Amino acid sequence: MADYYIPVGEVVKSEPKSIGIETPRKKRPKELAVITECCTGCSGSPACVPYCPVADCMYWVPDEDHPPFGRIEVDPVLCIGCKKCTSKGPDGSFLDGCPWDAIEMVPTVEAAEYVASKGGPPEYLRENWERVVEPAIRMSQLAAQQG
Ligand code: SF4
Ligand code: SF4
Repeated sequence: MADYYIPVGEVVKSEPKSIGIETPRKKRPKELAVITECCTGCSGSPACVPYCPVADCMYWVPDEDHPPFGRIEVDPVLCIGCKKCTSKGPDGSFLDGCPWDAIEMVPTVEAAEYVASKGGPPEYLRENWERVVEPAIRMSQLAAQQG
């Protein structure tokens, strides 16, 4: 999971952000979209964001050292796993979505473990408890309920 960008800790969501559904998802998706290090940021005009049907799920993260570059991230708490942002279809087919193959679908439990494992030192965890640990606990509880 080292090559993925999954937000942990405080998140500042810059524009462009996805627009759409604003109600929280009802079910834990089996898979979540995660951005890999292949994300180029599409020179500031991310091709993936308009495909996402969930408000604030995909958002821009500027590269402070190299403006105007940056990348996209996916909020693991909001993603519904619809795969509209990815270009990988079933049986090797190619869909619309990220043209740079920079979005992968990973099992939700794996993403939650990653978030928890990146929690960092105790003081960081204390400060970011809600953001980091609560979603991981919620996701693993839902996983247990849904088998
Ligand atoms: S379309 Fe792909 S490369 Fe472009 S910003 Fe989105 S994830 Fe990154
Ligand atoms: S899988 Fe769907 S909800 Fe998740 S980031 Fe991609 S388009 Fe948005």
